[in-house]
Amino acid sequence: MLAFLILVTVALASSHHAEDFEGNKVFRVSVEDENHMTLMHELASISELDFWKPDSVAQIKPHTTVDFRVKAEDVLTVEDFLEHNELHYEVLINNLRSAMDAQFDSHSRAAGHSYTKYNNWETIEAWTKEIAAQNPSLISRSVIGTTFEGRSMYLLKVGKASSNKPAVFIDCGFHAREWISPAFCQWFVKEAVRTYGQEAQMTKLLDKLDFYVLPVFNVDGYVYSWTKSRMWRKTRSSRTGSSCRGVDPNRNFKAGWCETGASKDPCSDTYCGPTAESEKETKALTNFIQKNLSSIKAYLTVHSYSQLLLYPYSYSYKLPSNNAELNSVVKAAANELASLYGTKYKYGPGASTIYLAAGGSDDWAYDQGIKYSFTFELRDTGRYGFLLPESQIQATSEETLLAVKYIANYVLEHLY
Ligand SMILES: [Zn+2]
Repeated sequence: MLAFLILVTVALASSHHAEDFEGNKVFRVSVEDENHMTLMHELASISELDFWKPDSVAQIKPHTTVDFRVKAEDVLTVEDFLEHNELHYEVLINNLRSAMDAQFDSHSRAAGHSYTKYNNWETIEAWTKEIAAQNPSLISRSVIGTTFEGRSMYLLKVGKASSNKPAVFIDCGFHAREWISPAFCQWFVKEAVRTYGQEAQMTKLLDKLDFYVLPVFNVDGYVYSWTKSRMWRKTRSSRTGSSCRGVDPNRNFKAGWCETGASKDPCSDTYCGPTAESEKETKALTNFIQKNLSSIKAYLTVHSYSQLLLYPYSYSYKLPSNNAELNSVVKAAANELASLYGTKYKYGPGASTIYLAAGGSDDWAYDQGIKYSFTFELRDTGRYGFLLPESQIQATSEETLLAVKYIANYVLEHLY
Protein backbone atom coordinates (compact mmCIF):
# COMPACT_ATOMS: atom_id res chain seq x y z
CA MET A 1 0.00 0.00 0.00
CA LEU A 2 2.77 2.41 0.93
CA ALA A 3 4.67 1.55 -2.25
CA PHE A 4 1.50 2.13 -4.25
CA LEU A 5 0.98 5.53 -2.63
CA ILE A 6 4.56 6.50 -3.35
CA LEU A 7 4.14 5.46 -6.97
CA VAL A 8 0.94 7.48 -7.31
CA THR A 9 2.63 10.47 -5.67
CA VAL A 10 5.62 10.22 -7.98
CA ALA A 11 3.35 9.91 -11.02
CA LEU A 12 1.30 12.94 -9.97
CA ALA A 13 4.41 14.97 -9.22
CA SER A 14 6.07 14.15 -12.52
CA SER A 15 2.93 15.02 -14.46
CA HIS A 16 3.47 18.62 -13.34
CA HIS A 17 6.93 18.73 -14.84
CA ALA A 18 7.67 19.86 -18.34
CA GLU A 19 8.44 17.19 -20.92
CA ASP A 20 12.24 17.06 -21.24
CA PHE A 21 12.61 15.72 -24.84
CA GLU A 22 15.93 14.08 -23.94
CA GLY A 23 17.16 11.95 -26.84
CA ASN A 24 14.46 13.13 -29.25
CA LYS A 25 15.78 13.64 -32.78
CA VAL A 26 14.57 15.66 -35.75
CA PHE A 27 14.98 13.97 -39.13
CA ARG A 28 14.82 15.35 -42.65
CA VAL A 29 13.83 12.80 -45.28
CA SER A 30 13.98 13.37 -49.04
CA VAL A 31 10.72 12.35 -50.65
CA GLU A 32 11.38 11.87 -54.36
CA ASP A 33 8.37 9.96 -55.60
CA GLU A 34 5.07 8.26 -54.78
CA ASN A 35 6.86 5.23 -53.40
CA HIS A 36 8.66 7.40 -50.87
CA MET A 37 5.34 8.99 -49.93
CA THR A 38 3.82 5.56 -49.28
CA LEU A 39 6.82 4.68 -47.13
CA MET A 40 6.42 7.86 -45.09
CA HIS A 41 2.75 7.03 -44.48
CA GLU A 42 3.81 3.58 -43.35
CA LEU A 43 6.46 5.00 -41.02
CA ALA A 44 3.94 7.45 -39.54
CA SER A 45 1.57 4.56 -38.85
CA ILE A 46 4.15 2.45 -36.98
CA SER A 47 5.75 5.24 -34.93
CA GLU A 48 4.50 8.48 -33.47
CA LEU A 49 6.02 11.24 -35.59
CA ASP A 50 5.69 14.94 -34.80
CA PHE A 51 5.65 16.61 -38.20
CA TRP A 52 7.49 19.93 -38.36
CA LYS A 53 7.39 20.53 -42.13
CA PRO A 54 4.90 19.96 -43.63
CA ASP A 55 2.40 20.05 -40.75
CA SER A 56 1.14 16.49 -41.24
CA VAL A 57 1.84 13.25 -43.09
CA ALA A 58 -1.18 13.95 -45.33
CA GLN A 59 0.54 17.05 -46.73
CA ILE A 60 3.68 15.31 -47.97
CA LYS A 61 4.31 15.80 -51.69
CA PRO A 62 6.89 14.27 -54.06
CA HIS A 63 10.14 16.20 -54.70
CA THR A 64 10.16 17.74 -51.24
CA THR A 65 11.80 17.13 -47.91
CA VAL A 66 9.96 16.20 -44.74
CA ASP A 67 11.08 17.25 -41.25
CA PHE A 68 9.76 15.40 -38.22
CA ARG A 69 10.57 14.78 -34.57
CA VAL A 70 10.98 11.28 -33.19
CA LYS A 71 10.76 10.32 -29.51
CA ALA A 72 13.86 8.77 -27.95
CA GLU A 73 12.29 5.32 -27.68
CA ASP A 74 11.38 5.30 -31.40
CA VAL A 75 14.68 6.56 -32.79
CA LEU A 76 16.15 3.12 -33.55
CA THR A 77 12.94 1.88 -35.19
CA VAL A 78 12.82 4.96 -37.41
CA GLU A 79 16.51 4.79 -38.37
CA ASP A 80 16.16 1.09 -39.21
CA PHE A 81 13.09 1.78 -41.32
CA LEU A 82 14.77 4.62 -43.25
CA GLU A 83 17.93 2.61 -43.90
CA HIS A 84 16.14 -0.62 -44.76
CA ASN A 85 13.98 1.22 -47.31
CA GLU A 86 16.91 3.26 -48.64
CA LEU A 87 15.30 6.61 -47.92
CA HIS A 88 17.78 9.48 -47.96
CA TYR A 89 17.79 11.34 -44.68
CA GLU A 90 19.79 13.58 -42.42
CA VAL A 91 19.53 14.27 -38.73
CA LEU A 92 18.71 17.98 -38.31
CA ILE A 93 18.71 17.91 -34.51
CA ASN A 94 20.55 15.14 -32.73
CA ASN A 95 19.21 15.81 -29.25
CA LEU A 96 16.20 18.06 -28.87
CA ARG A 97 16.92 18.65 -25.19
CA SER A 98 20.28 20.23 -26.04
CA ALA A 99 18.73 22.35 -28.80
CA MET A 100 16.05 23.51 -26.34
CA ASP A 101 18.73 24.67 -23.93
CA ALA A 102 20.75 26.21 -26.78
CA GLN A 103 17.91 28.53 -27.83
CA PHE A 104 18.55 30.59 -24.70
CA ASP A 105 21.86 31.92 -25.96
CA SER A 106 21.24 35.66 -25.71
CA HIS A 107 23.63 35.94 -22.74
CA SER A 108 21.47 38.74 -21.50
CA ARG A 109 21.18 38.20 -17.78
CA ALA A 110 18.50 40.85 -17.51
CA ALA A 111 15.45 39.59 -15.71
CA GLY A 112 12.09 40.66 -17.06
CA HIS A 113 11.20 41.73 -20.54
CA SER A 114 13.77 41.81 -23.34
CA TYR A 115 13.36 42.24 -27.09
CA THR A 116 16.27 39.91 -27.75
CA LYS A 117 14.99 37.09 -25.55
CA TYR A 118 11.95 34.86 -25.65
CA ASN A 119 9.51 36.23 -23.10
CA ASN A 120 6.96 34.09 -21.30
CA TRP A 121 3.30 35.08 -21.30
CA GLU A 122 3.30 36.88 -17.95
CA THR A 123 6.18 39.03 -19.18
CA ILE A 124 4.50 39.77 -22.51
CA GLU A 125 1.22 40.57 -20.78
CA ALA A 126 2.96 43.07 -18.47
CA TRP A 127 4.83 44.48 -21.48
CA THR A 128 1.60 45.22 -23.39
CA LYS A 129 0.43 47.29 -20.44
CA GLU A 130 3.72 49.13 -19.99
CA ILE A 131 4.42 49.99 -23.61
CA ALA A 132 0.87 51.34 -23.99
CA ALA A 133 1.23 53.40 -20.77
CA GLN A 134 4.61 54.77 -21.87
CA ASN A 135 3.40 55.78 -25.33
CA PRO A 136 -0.15 57.05 -24.86
CA SER A 137 -0.05 59.17 -28.01
CA LEU A 138 0.83 56.20 -30.21
CA ILE A 139 -0.46 53.03 -28.52
CA SER A 140 -3.69 51.94 -26.98
CA ARG A 141 -4.36 48.50 -25.56
CA SER A 142 -7.62 46.60 -25.67
CA VAL A 143 -8.84 43.06 -25.04
CA ILE A 144 -10.57 41.40 -27.98
CA GLY A 145 -11.62 38.27 -26.13
CA THR A 146 -10.62 35.59 -23.68
CA THR A 147 -9.05 32.23 -24.36
CA PHE A 148 -10.42 28.78 -23.48
CA GLU A 149 -8.51 28.91 -20.19
CA GLY A 150 -9.70 32.44 -19.47
CA ARG A 151 -6.66 34.53 -20.42
CA SER A 152 -7.03 37.95 -22.05
CA MET A 153 -6.23 38.40 -25.72
CA TYR A 154 -4.51 41.78 -25.86
CA LEU A 155 -4.48 43.93 -28.95
CA LEU A 156 -2.25 46.96 -29.38
CA LYS A 157 -3.44 49.70 -31.71
CA VAL A 158 -0.35 51.51 -32.92
CA GLY A 159 -0.61 54.82 -34.80
CA LYS A 160 -1.05 58.55 -34.44
CA ALA A 161 -4.61 59.34 -33.40
CA SER A 162 -6.73 60.63 -36.26
CA SER A 163 -10.17 59.79 -37.59
CA ASN A 164 -11.05 57.35 -40.37
CA LYS A 165 -7.60 55.84 -40.73
CA PRO A 166 -7.04 52.72 -42.77
CA ALA A 167 -5.49 49.86 -40.79
CA VAL A 168 -3.13 46.92 -41.12
CA PHE A 169 -3.82 43.92 -38.87
CA ILE A 170 -0.85 41.81 -37.73
CA ASP A 171 -1.09 38.74 -35.54
CA CYS A 172 1.59 36.51 -34.04
CA GLY A 173 1.61 33.33 -32.00
CA PHE A 174 -1.04 31.22 -33.77
CA HIS A 175 1.01 28.08 -33.24
CA ALA A 176 2.36 27.82 -29.71
CA ARG A 177 5.83 26.46 -30.46
CA GLU A 178 6.70 29.11 -33.07
CA TRP A 179 8.29 31.39 -30.48
CA ILE A 180 10.02 33.69 -32.96
CA SER A 181 6.58 34.91 -34.05
CA PRO A 182 5.51 36.70 -30.82
CA ALA A 183 9.10 37.95 -30.54
CA PHE A 184 8.65 39.67 -33.90
CA CYS A 185 5.34 41.31 -32.92
CA GLN A 186 7.00 42.78 -29.82
CA TRP A 187 9.93 43.99 -31.92
CA PHE A 188 7.58 45.61 -34.41
CA VAL A 189 5.81 47.64 -31.71
CA LYS A 190 9.12 48.69 -30.17
CA GLU A 191 10.53 49.85 -33.51
CA ALA A 192 7.32 51.69 -34.37
CA VAL A 193 7.49 53.86 -31.25
CA ARG A 194 11.28 54.15 -31.29
CA THR A 195 11.51 55.38 -34.88
CA TYR A 196 8.33 57.48 -35.06
CA GLY A 197 9.39 61.05 -35.67
CA GLN A 198 12.94 59.90 -36.50
CA GLU A 199 12.61 57.75 -39.57
CA ALA A 200 10.57 59.10 -42.49
CA GLN A 201 8.86 55.91 -43.64
CA MET A 202 7.71 54.76 -40.19
CA THR A 203 6.55 58.29 -39.35
CA LYS A 204 4.46 58.40 -42.50
CA LEU A 205 3.03 54.93 -41.87
CA LEU A 206 1.98 55.74 -38.31
CA ASP A 207 0.59 59.13 -39.31
CA LYS A 208 -1.58 57.66 -42.03
CA LEU A 209 -2.25 54.09 -40.87
CA ASP A 210 -3.10 52.22 -37.72
CA PHE A 211 -1.45 48.90 -37.02
CA TYR A 212 -3.47 46.45 -34.98
CA VAL A 213 -0.93 44.12 -33.38
CA LEU A 214 -2.03 40.95 -31.60
CA PRO A 215 1.27 39.77 -30.03
CA VAL A 216 0.02 36.31 -29.01
CA PHE A 217 -3.14 34.83 -30.51
CA ASN A 218 -2.96 31.35 -28.96
CA VAL A 219 -2.12 32.40 -25.41
CA ASP A 220 -3.07 29.11 -23.72
CA GLY A 221 -0.93 27.14 -26.14
CA TYR A 222 1.97 29.55 -25.69
CA VAL A 223 1.81 29.18 -21.91
CA TYR A 224 1.70 25.39 -22.29
CA SER A 225 4.75 25.45 -24.58
CA TRP A 226 6.66 27.23 -21.81
CA THR A 227 5.44 25.23 -18.83
CA LYS A 228 4.66 21.70 -20.05
CA SER A 229 5.64 20.85 -23.58
CA ARG A 230 7.91 23.01 -25.74
CA MET A 231 6.58 21.32 -28.89
CA TRP A 232 2.89 22.16 -28.33
CA ARG A 233 1.18 23.66 -31.38
CA LYS A 234 -2.59 23.82 -30.90
CA THR A 235 -5.00 25.63 -28.59
CA ARG A 236 -5.79 23.95 -25.24
CA SER A 237 -9.54 23.42 -25.53
CA SER A 238 -11.08 20.15 -24.39
CA ARG A 239 -14.19 18.39 -25.58
CA THR A 240 -16.28 15.40 -24.59
CA GLY A 241 -15.48 12.18 -26.38
CA SER A 242 -11.73 12.73 -26.63
CA SER A 243 -8.92 12.94 -24.13
CA CYS A 244 -6.83 14.84 -26.68
CA ARG A 245 -6.74 18.58 -26.31
CA GLY A 246 -6.59 21.48 -28.65
CA VAL A 247 -7.47 22.55 -32.17
CA ASP A 248 -5.08 23.77 -34.85
CA PRO A 249 -6.14 27.42 -34.94
CA ASN A 250 -4.91 27.79 -38.51
CA ARG A 251 -7.34 25.06 -39.63
CA ASN A 252 -10.28 26.48 -37.66
CA PHE A 253 -11.38 29.38 -39.89
CA LYS A 254 -14.39 29.34 -42.21
CA ALA A 255 -12.40 29.09 -45.43
CA GLY A 256 -12.92 25.71 -47.09
CA TRP A 257 -13.03 24.50 -43.50
CA CYS A 258 -11.63 20.98 -43.02
CA GLU A 259 -11.90 20.11 -46.70
CA THR A 260 -8.22 19.42 -47.29
CA GLY A 261 -4.88 19.48 -45.49
CA ALA A 262 -6.62 19.28 -42.12
CA SER A 263 -7.64 16.43 -39.85
CA LYS A 264 -10.94 15.48 -38.21
CA ASP A 265 -9.03 13.52 -35.55
CA PRO A 266 -8.96 15.48 -32.24
CA CYS A 267 -5.57 13.92 -31.49
CA SER A 268 -4.00 15.26 -34.69
CA ASP A 269 -1.83 18.37 -34.67
CA THR A 270 -3.84 19.65 -37.65
CA TYR A 271 -7.27 19.01 -36.06
CA CYS A 272 -9.73 21.46 -37.62
CA GLY A 273 -12.04 21.46 -34.59
CA PRO A 274 -15.61 20.18 -34.18
CA THR A 275 -16.91 23.15 -36.21
CA ALA A 276 -15.43 26.18 -37.96
CA GLU A 277 -14.66 28.92 -35.40
CA SER A 278 -15.10 26.42 -32.56
CA GLU A 279 -12.22 28.06 -30.74
CA LYS A 280 -12.85 31.12 -28.59
CA GLU A 281 -9.60 32.59 -29.91
CA THR A 282 -10.74 32.19 -33.54
CA LYS A 283 -14.11 33.73 -32.73
CA ALA A 284 -12.49 36.71 -30.98
CA LEU A 285 -10.34 37.42 -34.02
CA THR A 286 -13.11 37.03 -36.61
CA ASN A 287 -15.44 39.22 -34.52
CA PHE A 288 -12.85 41.96 -34.28
CA ILE A 289 -11.96 41.89 -37.96
CA GLN A 290 -15.58 41.83 -39.08
CA LYS A 291 -16.39 44.75 -36.79
CA ASN A 292 -13.50 46.74 -38.29
CA LEU A 293 -13.73 45.50 -41.85
CA SER A 294 -14.26 48.95 -43.32
CA SER A 295 -10.86 50.13 -42.03
CA ILE A 296 -8.70 46.98 -42.22
CA LYS A 297 -6.94 47.00 -45.59
CA ALA A 298 -4.32 44.32 -44.98
CA TYR A 299 -4.03 41.17 -42.87
CA LEU A 300 -0.64 39.72 -41.93
CA THR A 301 -0.23 36.54 -39.92
CA VAL A 302 3.22 35.56 -38.68
CA HIS A 303 4.35 31.93 -38.33
CA SER A 304 7.58 29.96 -38.50
CA TYR A 305 9.54 28.20 -39.91
CA SER A 306 10.49 27.86 -43.64
CA GLN A 307 11.18 31.42 -44.87
CA LEU A 308 8.07 31.86 -46.95
CA LEU A 309 5.81 34.74 -47.87
CA LEU A 310 2.43 33.37 -48.93
CA TYR A 311 -0.88 34.76 -50.10
CA PRO A 312 -4.25 33.06 -50.80
CA TYR A 313 -5.36 30.53 -51.53
CA SER A 314 -4.30 27.59 -49.41
CA TYR A 315 -7.64 25.77 -49.25
CA SER A 316 -7.72 25.42 -53.03
CA TYR A 317 -5.47 25.77 -56.06
CA LYS A 318 -7.69 28.56 -57.34
CA LEU A 319 -5.93 31.92 -57.58
CA PRO A 320 -7.10 35.17 -56.02
CA SER A 321 -8.48 37.73 -58.49
CA ASN A 322 -5.53 40.07 -57.81
CA ASN A 323 -2.98 37.26 -58.09
CA ALA A 324 -0.61 39.20 -60.32
CA GLU A 325 -0.61 42.17 -57.96
CA LEU A 326 -0.11 40.02 -54.85
CA ASN A 327 2.71 38.17 -56.56
CA SER A 328 4.51 41.40 -57.36
CA VAL A 329 4.00 42.62 -53.77
CA VAL A 330 5.46 39.48 -52.16
CA LYS A 331 8.32 39.43 -54.63
CA ALA A 332 9.25 43.01 -53.77
CA ALA A 333 8.72 42.41 -50.03
CA ALA A 334 10.98 39.33 -50.18
CA ASN A 335 13.63 41.43 -51.95
CA GLU A 336 13.40 44.06 -49.22
CA LEU A 337 13.75 41.37 -46.58
CA ALA A 338 16.79 39.86 -48.28
CA SER A 339 18.47 43.25 -48.67
CA LEU A 340 19.59 43.27 -45.03
CA TYR A 341 21.25 39.88 -44.45
CA GLY A 342 20.62 37.99 -47.67
CA THR A 343 17.93 35.77 -46.13
CA LYS A 344 16.12 34.08 -49.00
CA TYR A 345 12.36 33.67 -48.95
CA LYS A 346 10.18 31.72 -51.34
CA TYR A 347 6.84 33.31 -52.17
CA GLY A 348 3.57 32.67 -53.96
CA PRO A 349 0.04 31.38 -53.37
CA GLY A 350 -0.10 28.95 -50.43
CA ALA A 351 -1.47 25.85 -52.16
CA SER A 352 1.03 25.69 -55.01
CA THR A 353 4.01 27.16 -53.13
CA ILE A 354 3.79 24.68 -50.24
CA TYR A 355 0.67 22.55 -49.90
CA LEU A 356 -3.10 22.59 -49.53
CA ALA A 357 -4.30 23.55 -46.06
CA ALA A 358 -7.92 24.53 -45.46
CA GLY A 359 -9.27 26.75 -42.68
CA GLY A 360 -6.41 29.25 -42.52
CA SER A 361 -6.83 32.81 -41.31
CA ASP A 362 -5.23 34.40 -44.38
CA ASP A 363 -7.76 32.79 -46.75
CA TRP A 364 -10.60 33.75 -44.43
CA ALA A 365 -9.45 37.37 -44.25
CA TYR A 366 -9.10 37.52 -48.03
CA ASP A 367 -12.61 36.14 -48.55
CA GLN A 368 -13.91 38.83 -46.17
CA GLY A 369 -12.72 41.35 -48.75
CA ILE A 370 -9.27 42.17 -47.36
CA LYS A 371 -7.37 42.28 -50.65
CA TYR A 372 -3.91 42.22 -49.10
CA SER A 373 -3.63 39.08 -47.00
CA PHE A 374 -0.29 37.41 -46.28
CA THR A 375 1.28 34.65 -44.23
CA PHE A 376 4.90 34.96 -43.14
CA GLU A 377 6.88 31.86 -42.25
CA LEU A 378 9.95 33.31 -40.54
CA ARG A 379 13.45 31.83 -40.10
CA ASP A 380 14.93 29.37 -40.45
CA THR A 381 14.80 26.59 -43.07
CA GLY A 382 15.26 23.76 -40.58
CA ARG A 383 18.69 23.98 -38.98
CA TYR A 384 16.98 24.92 -35.71
CA GLY A 385 13.35 24.82 -36.83
CA PHE A 386 11.09 25.86 -33.95
CA LEU A 387 14.12 26.15 -31.67
CA LEU A 388 15.62 29.23 -33.33
CA PRO A 389 18.25 30.63 -30.94
CA GLU A 390 17.54 33.94 -29.23
CA SER A 391 20.69 35.34 -30.83
CA GLN A 392 18.72 35.37 -34.13
CA ILE A 393 15.71 37.32 -32.83
CA GLN A 394 17.16 40.71 -33.69
CA ALA A 395 18.28 39.89 -37.24
CA THR A 396 15.08 37.97 -37.99
CA SER A 397 12.92 40.81 -36.69
CA GLU A 398 14.88 43.54 -38.47
CA GLU A 399 14.68 41.86 -41.86
CA THR A 400 10.99 40.98 -41.38
CA LEU A 401 10.27 44.58 -40.41
CA LEU A 402 11.55 45.72 -43.81
CA ALA A 403 9.07 43.43 -45.57
CA VAL A 404 6.19 44.51 -43.34
CA LYS A 405 6.97 48.19 -43.90
CA TYR A 406 7.12 47.59 -47.63
CA ILE A 407 3.69 45.93 -47.61
CA ALA A 408 2.16 48.62 -45.37
CA ASN A 409 3.52 51.35 -47.62
CA TYR A 410 2.19 49.58 -50.70
CA VAL A 411 -1.24 49.29 -49.10
CA LEU A 412 -1.15 52.98 -48.20
CA GLU A 413 -0.47 53.82 -51.83
CA HIS A 414 -3.19 51.48 -53.06
CA LEU A 415 -6.10 52.20 -50.75
CA TYR A 416 -9.46 50.79 -51.69
ZN1 LIG B 1 2.42 28.12 -37.75
